[in-house]
Amino acid sequence: MNNQLADLTERVKARLDAIKDPISGKGLFTSGRVKGLEARADGKISFTIEAPADVAELYVSVRERAEKEARATDGATSVTAVLTAEAAALAKAAGGVGGVKQIIAVASAKGGVGKSTVAVNLACAFASLGMKTGLLDLDVYGPSAPTLLGTGAKKPRMRDDKILEPLEAHGLKTMSIGYLVDPASPMIWRGAMATSAVRQMIDEVAWGDLDVLLLDLPPGTGDVQVTLVQRVPLAGAVIVSTPQEMALADVRRGLAMFEKTHAPVLGVVENMAYFETPDGKRTHIFGEGGARRVAAEVGAPFLGEIPIDVALRESCDAGAPLVATKPTHPVSKRFREIAAAARANVARMSKPAPAIRVK
Ligand code: ADP
Repeated sequence: MNNQLADLTERVKARLDAIKDPISGKGLFTSGRVKGLEARADGKISFTIEAPADVAELYVSVRERAEKEARATDGATSVTAVLTAEAAALAKAAGGVGGVKQIIAVASAKGGVGKSTVAVNLACAFASLGMKTGLLDLDVYGPSAPTLLGTGAKKPRMRDDKILEPLEAHGLKTMSIGYLVDPASPMIWRGAMATSAVRQMIDEVAWGDLDVLLLDLPPGTGDVQVTLVQRVPLAGAVIVSTPQEMALADVRRGLAMFEKTHAPVLGVVENMAYFETPDGKRTHIFGEGGARRVAAEVGAPFLGEIPIDVALRESCDAGAPLVATKPTHPVSKRFREIAAAARANVARMSKPAPAIRVK
């Protein structure tokens, strides 16, 4: 390295040290969080900030300031500052999940599109494909897994070592944030509780060995949802939407949310796609193929469509998921196809990427 470059590097280090590391209180460079600092002859600066995975969002603004400081350095022409969650912390996070091999989030940009119905039946479909499956209901605004799975009145048992035993129903292990958060508490408080309790719901629950854990996220794409997905190492996400034109904006918002976390979108499921009368005539109540079109437009895989179906609605109300209780029903078959497609996309798309990688 010639002297000029060495000088430039030193000036960048000094600039970065003007920022306080939120955890150690030391200068950002001195704290050791900055890795791979490189200065090129043309003045291009690049470095990575490694943050502990569980508090990575603290470092989002630190990264912005670091980029600004580096750009203001005499001799710098451009700056690439990347935020990653620390590999060690991620490994710990993954280890903390015990034997959970993969975590898949089920999301929707708004409520009432059948996200929970899809999450529960998709979980049963994974189980029917021979995968050990768990379902964690994080929909703090309206936890519905206890109703959909018929576990409503039961409560998870706390072991002596303060680890919660998940409930078992229809071949699934299941937990709901609804057990931890008072439904009478204000919305904003419940959102905060969900984001702070999510690690506990994963680390302090005896999930045992699972091939896949599905997360039923609260509907929406706001701060609560983003924080939730950033706290968990996701193998991918499934977005549920109805076919309405409004779906266009919804699916886009969902995709943007997962882009922030670099979790691959495994695909879009179109729910309430049509209604079929007994004589086989289909009516597209909410319009035709909207979610499929938007998925194609934005380059996300389309996983399949679920019709409006009376048996599906009845099975929800009865707490007896259709896929588990009527496996030969055509809608159950649809769910198994969607599960198989999602599984194939995990294998194809997921890479051991950091939970957060913001450029
Ligand atoms: P979300 O989780 O998006 O708020 P839910 O899964 O709770 O939505 O579904 C809302 C209601 O719609 C439930 O009563 C459910 O039984 C019903 N429902 C969802 N999808 C379908 C469908 N494809 N056919 C019939 N009823 C459905």
